[in-house]
Amino acid sequence: MSLKLPIYLDHAATTPCDPRVVEAMLPFFTETFGNPGSRNHRFGWEAEAGVDAAREQVAQLIGADEKEIVFTSGSTESNNLAIKGAAYLYEKNPAGSGKPRGHIITAIHEHKAVLDPCKRLQKEGFDVTFLEPGRDGIITAEMVEAAMRDDTILVTVMWANNEIGTINEVPRIGALCHRREVIFHTDATQWVGKMPTDVEKDQVDLLSLSGHKMYGPKGVGALYVRRRRPRVRLQALVDGGGQERGFRPGTLNVTGIVGLGKAAQIARAEMDADADRLFRLRKKLEDTITGQLDSTQVNGHRERRLPHITNISFGFVEGESLMMAIKEIACSSGSACTSASLEPSYVLKSLGVGDDLAHSSLRLSLGRWTTEEQIDYTADAIVKSVRKLRLLSPLYDMHKEGIDLSKVQWAQH
Ligand SMILES: *Cc1c(COP(=O)(O)O)cnc(C)c1O
Repeated sequence: MSLKLPIYLDHAATTPCDPRVVEAMLPFFTETFGNPGSRNHRFGWEAEAGVDAAREQVAQLIGADEKEIVFTSGSTESNNLAIKGAAYLYEKNPAGSGKPRGHIITAIHEHKAVLDPCKRLQKEGFDVTFLEPGRDGIITAEMVEAAMRDDTILVTVMWANNEIGTINEVPRIGALCHRREVIFHTDATQWVGKMPTDVEKDQVDLLSLSGHKMYGPKGVGALYVRRRRPRVRLQALVDGGGQERGFRPGTLNVTGIVGLGKAAQIARAEMDADADRLFRLRKKLEDTITGQLDSTQVNGHRERRLPHITNISFGFVEGESLMMAIKEIACSSGSACTSASLEPSYVLKSLGVGDDLAHSSLRLSLGRWTTEEQIDYTADAIVKSVRKLRLLSPLYDMHKEGIDLSKVQWAQH
């Protein structure tokens, strides 16, 4: 069989829908199209049965009770509801009192869907601490504990990072928060469905997950909201028909929810085998690249990482040229296009990766249908492209001659 190009290695951005998920969704567009809120006829009941089954499947994936699952449009909404909804309800001082409304702890290399709600709360009178990770990218329970104050109301730390795949100390942070009676939210978008999750054992109070990061459809996700020990309350962010116990009103996205449920069921059954296989493939990819090229580094902690994500920096190549050279491999770079310029990734910067290296970094994320053939092709293409680009680099020549570039006095322009 010949290899089809381009090769998709950007599963941390989104995953394809599993065909079994699509199959489960299809009847809910046509035959079973009812509104689950319609209590008086069979159309409504059948749609509701589909939603109930999905709620059970999502709950089982994370060790929750189905009453603790609130369906949303995805992790961005789940994060907003968790963070703002908890902050408004648990505030210690009212707005305008001259005192901070409450203290929130998060980290500087969280996803924007956590950082932006936190920044909004900061503008509205809450104090926010943005923890800085070490070079390994990990947030530990000790870092969180050192930042805790008497008025801390919420800790929000992601389970696994979307750019580098590093895994924060979630069960230990959960235990700390429970001891201190602080609400603990985790953005588990990259974690759930890939790694075993048990909100009881891991002591999580609020957890965000998203369909399209786990082989389900886009535009659907869930927020887990703990109901006992402690019972977590939230202020809803929109007003309406009272669906989802008032946390998230609006007619349910039945097809999406059914798809998310099916994706959760498949993930629960297959995550161990998927993780083993992807770990071996990623290792082969990393070992080949770092074995054949000098001046490369894998970013983030070497062991505490998701099995399917790698983030590699290549010295002495220009990021944009590298992306151009490997056009047939769909992956992410360490640069984010903002309106005016190419900004180096704030996640890599937070680990102390310099701007140049951050620009010449690639995030390669593998998925359920990634093959060994694709990995071999990718490793080979990257090695060849980097070698070719370095042939054009005077800096690389100097480096090879043993000149310490950090000590070179450059001529003034
Ligand atoms: C993708 C992602 C999100 C956003 O999820 P949506 O469902 O697309 O809104 C939030 N957090 C992390 C860590 C993600 O990877």
